[in-house]
Amino acid sequence: MKQQPIIGLEVHVELATKSKMFCGCSAEHFGVQPNTHTCPVCLGLPGALPVPNEKAVEWTVLLALALGCRINRVSKFDRKNYFYPDLPKGYQITQYDQPFGEGGSLGKIRIRRVHLEEDTGKLQHTEVDGEKVALVDFNRSGVPLVEIVTEPGFRSIEEVDQYLKALQKIIRYLGISSADMEKGSMRLEPSISLSADGELPAYRVELKNINSFRFVRRALEYEIERQQREPHVQQTRGWNESKGETVPQREKEEAHDYRYFPEPDIPPIKLTESYINEQREKIPELPQEKATRFVKEFKLSEYDALQLTDDKSEADFFEEAVKIDTTISPKHIANWIINRKNEIENLVPAQLLVKIKQSQQASEVNPGQLEEVVKRVIQENPKAVEDYKKNGNQVVGFLVGQVRRQIQVNPKVIAEKILIRLKS
Ligand code: ZN
Ligand code: MN
Repeated sequence: MKQQPIIGLEVHVELATKSKMFCGCSAEHFGVQPNTHTCPVCLGLPGALPVPNEKAVEWTVLLALALGCRINRVSKFDRKNYFYPDLPKGYQITQYDQPFGEGGSLGKIRIRRVHLEEDTGKLQHTEVDGEKVALVDFNRSGVPLVEIVTEPGFRSIEEVDQYLKALQKIIRYLGISSADMEKGSMRLEPSISLSADGELPAYRVELKNINSFRFVRRALEYEIERQQREPHVQQTRGWNESKGETVPQREKEEAHDYRYFPEPDIPPIKLTESYINEQREKIPELPQEKATRFVKEFKLSEYDALQLTDDKSEADFFEEAVKIDTTISPKHIANWIINRKNEIENLVPAQLLVKIKQSQQASEVNPGQLEEVVKRVIQENPKAVEDYKKNGNQVVGFLVGQVRRQIQVNPKVIAEKILIRLKS
């Protein structure tokens, strides 16, 4: 019987704030000497008191609004209790029943909630004096983490892929995180079950240890195939990239296993209507809107508009270039940017326009004029012509150079003209 996959997603994104979520430590942890950005709060020492990071709250609200969520006027933090060596307090400060944002959407996918929590430390499995050990680095402990949870609304891997790329783009446009999966600043946990009748089944399998768009696809493909042949059990499984399979980690726990309760050291956070409106006004034009506007305003194809708006800095580059010189068509400028990404990296828009102009002038040179210059250069260089008769093509490069001193034309075209004359 044909069974349909039903997929939901939890995405964790590390916010790019300067300091951590509940203390003043630097939130930088990538490529930093282990355990140098720590204090009693993020080490979970007894008696240390957390103070929420205002910027992190602001950015969570910003993202929740950009995803069309309603913002709870009263929000609070809760303790999620569990034991693991990278969690020194024995609980994670997160949000349970009053998250900052609820009920949003991205495309046709409904978003259940957007909440704020703290990251854990990081375990490093290594060897010390010939012994296998696990070391703990607490630099990441307490870094602000926003979690975006969807409803189980995906019916194919393709939909998951599209959603993740769109979400990553929005986060980057907002400038609140690098959302870089290789560095772990964006982490994904899909849940997948198979349904024979389209109804949500009573079990789900949560997948961990996925750190690239490619692994999401591979892990989901594997699970769809595995769940077709194995009994349906609620559990957490980890993706093993070298084996190309998921392996069972634990039977899935339920919310009540975590003994959630309100964080007693942080009072509830009340957000005023004007604060929420203030954040709403900070939302920049988002990738999809920008692409739609580019099609309308600059008559670009949808494909070109999507390519340009993939990266905000590229889109800005394009718009600036279009403003500077209205004699070159936006379509022409867009083509240059899309086809020569590496070239434009070191240019400002005005420099790109100079390049485009030069190439346009070069192609506007009339053929008779080029013919004239080639003829003259050959007449003026009898030695080179002799050389050609003896040694062949080597000298052509020299003659092309002489022609280009007088006229800017594609060297290939010049070389062809020269060869025709030399052979005759
Ligand atoms: Zn700290
Ligand atoms: Mn979480």
